Amino acid sequence: MLGRYMSTTRIAVIGAGFSGTLLTLHLLRQCPTAEIVLIERNPQFGRGQAYATGNANHLLNVPAGRMSAFRDRPNNFLEWLQSTPHPELGEAPTAGSFVPRLLFGRYIRHLLKEQIRHADKDGRLELVRGDVLRMDASDSRLALELDRDRRTVADATVLAVGNFPPEPPPVADPGFYDSALYRADPWAPDALTDLDPEAPVLLIGTGLTMIDTVVSLLDQGHTGPIHALSRRGLLPHRHNGSGQPPRNEPSSYPTVLSDLVRLMRREITRMTGLGGTWHPVIDALRPITTELWQTASAEDKARFVRHLRPWWDIHRHRIAADVSDRIEAARERGQLTKCAGRIREYRETPGGVEVTFQPRGTSSLASFQVARVVNCSGPSCDYDRITHPLIRNLLAEGLVRPDPLRLGLDVTTTCAVRDRQGAISRRVFAVGPVTRGAFWEMTAVPDIRRQTELLAEHLGNMTARKAFALPALASHKP
Ligand SMILES: Cc1cc2nc3c(=O)[nH]c(=O)nc-3n(C[C@H](O)[C@H](O)[C@H](O)COP(=O)(O)OP(=O)(O)OC[C@H]3O[C@@H](n4cnc5c(N)ncnc54)[C@H](O)[C@@H]3O)c2cc1C
Repeated sequence: MLGRYMSTTRIAVIGAGFSGTLLTLHLLRQCPTAEIVLIERNPQFGRGQAYATGNANHLLNVPAGRMSAFRDRPNNFLEWLQSTPHPELGEAPTAGSFVPRLLFGRYIRHLLKEQIRHADKDGRLELVRGDVLRMDASDSRLALELDRDRRTVADATVLAVGNFPPEPPPVADPGFYDSALYRADPWAPDALTDLDPEAPVLLIGTGLTMIDTVVSLLDQGHTGPIHALSRRGLLPHRHNGSGQPPRNEPSSYPTVLSDLVRLMRREITRMTGLGGTWHPVIDALRPITTELWQTASAEDKARFVRHLRPWWDIHRHRIAADVSDRIEAARERGQLTKCAGRIREYRETPGGVEVTFQPRGTSSLASFQVARVVNCSGPSCDYDRITHPLIRNLLAEGLVRPDPLRLGLDVTTTCAVRDRQGAISRRVFAVGPVTRGAFWEMTAVPDIRRQTELLAEHLGNMTARKAFALPALASHKP
C-alpha cells in the first residue's frame, strides 16, 4: 500500500463519514495534482455514525432544502432525492421535508461513486478499508499504521474521526457497566435486541440520541415503560415549520455572554409579544455562532458549556414534527417518562437491575426497576477518555492535545492540530465535530460543508506551495 506516487503530494483523510468524504471530494478539486487516500474502518464509506442507520423513521433534523453537500448548489440533495425513486419516501419530497437519514447516507455514497466513476479519471483517489491505529511523524512523510499490519504514507493527514460512543455516568461502583443488561453504545446492532417488548427500559440521556432510541423501540413494537433520565431532563424542541412574522434583527450582537443572553431574552419577549415564537431569534444566531464563540473570553466559553449548553442544544438542534408527535404521544399515554437527576447506583436483581438516582434539586433518592439500561447520553468529546488506539497513541506521542474545554481536539481556526506544547502542525489537521473547541457549532451538515470547503482550499494552497515537502530529518514534529 506504500505510496505509488512518491513525488506526488499525498493527503490521507482518516474517517469516511460525512466530514471525511466531503473533504475528499473538495480536495480532489482543490488539489489538482495531489493524491488523496480516504481511510475508513467500517464497511461502508460515506455514511459515518449519523447516516448509517437502517431505520427509515430516523429522520433528518434539518429540512432537505438545507442539506445539500455543496454550498454553491443548494438544491443538490433535493434534486437527487427527486430524480431517483426511494421506497422510503411516502410523498414527493420538497425543500421543507424531513426525510429519512439513511437517504442522506445514500446521497453521500452516490457522490463518492460518481467521483470514482466519472471524475477521477487519473486515479488520484484511493479508498482504503482499515482502522488507523497509529501515526508516526518522525520522518519527512507521515506513516499511518493500520490494522492487519498495514501501512501507508502521506505528506499531510486530516483527522475526520467524528463522534465516539458516550461515556457512562460516574458511579461509586461501575461494575454494572460490564453487565449484559447495560448497552454502552446506542448505535451498536445489539443495543435493543433480545428485549422483552413489555419490559421497562432506562435510557440515559434525554437528547437526540434518546429520541432515536425511543423511535427504534416503538418501531420494534415495544410497549413497556421507557424512562429517560438526564441531569436536567430537557427534551429537544420540535421544528415549527414556516410562517414566522417578519422581524427586525438586532443590528449587532454583544460578545460578552451575559449581555448576549440578556439580548436574546429581550428579543424572545419582543417576538412573542408580536405573536411569534423564539425560533427565529435562535436561528438568527446561526450565521454568526462561530464568530461569537471565537470572540468570547475563555471564562465565558467555560460558563456557556457548564450552564447554557443543554439549553442551547435543545433550541438549536430541533426534531422533525413527525418524530416529535410520536414522542409526545408516548409521553401522553404514560409510556415514556423523562426525569432530571443523577444516577447514583445500580443493583442487579433477579428481574433485571434497580437503578437508584437522585432527582435534581433534592437530596432524596428514587429508583427504577428495569430490564435494560442503554446509554444515549450523546457522543463522548473528552479525548483524554476516548479509548480508540489512534487517539491514545496520538495523545501519548504528544502529536495532538485535547482542547481546554474538553470538546474535542485543540485546533486552530484553519483546522491545524496543536501538539502537546501547543505548537501548530503544518501537516496534521482535523475536521468535523472533532474541532468543536475552536468552532463550537461543528455538528450539522451546513456547518461541516463550509468547513470542509475552506480546509480543502487551504490544503490546496499548501500543496501548490509544496508546503508539506519537509526535508527527511530524523525527528520531525507534525
Ligand atoms: C445520530 C445523529 C444524527 C444526526 N442528524 C443530523 C441531521 O439530521 N442533520 C444534520 O445536519 N446533522 C446531523 N447530525 C450531525 C452531523 O451530520 C454528524 O455529526 C456528521 O455526520 C459528522 O460526520 P463525521 O464524518 O465528522 O463523523 P462520523 O459520522 O462519526 O464519521 C467518522 C468516521 O470515521 C471513522 N473512523 C474513526 N476513527 C477511525 C480510524 N482510526 N480509522 C479509520 N476510520 C475511522 C468512523 O468509522 C466513521 O465512519 C447527526 C449526528 C448524529 C450522531
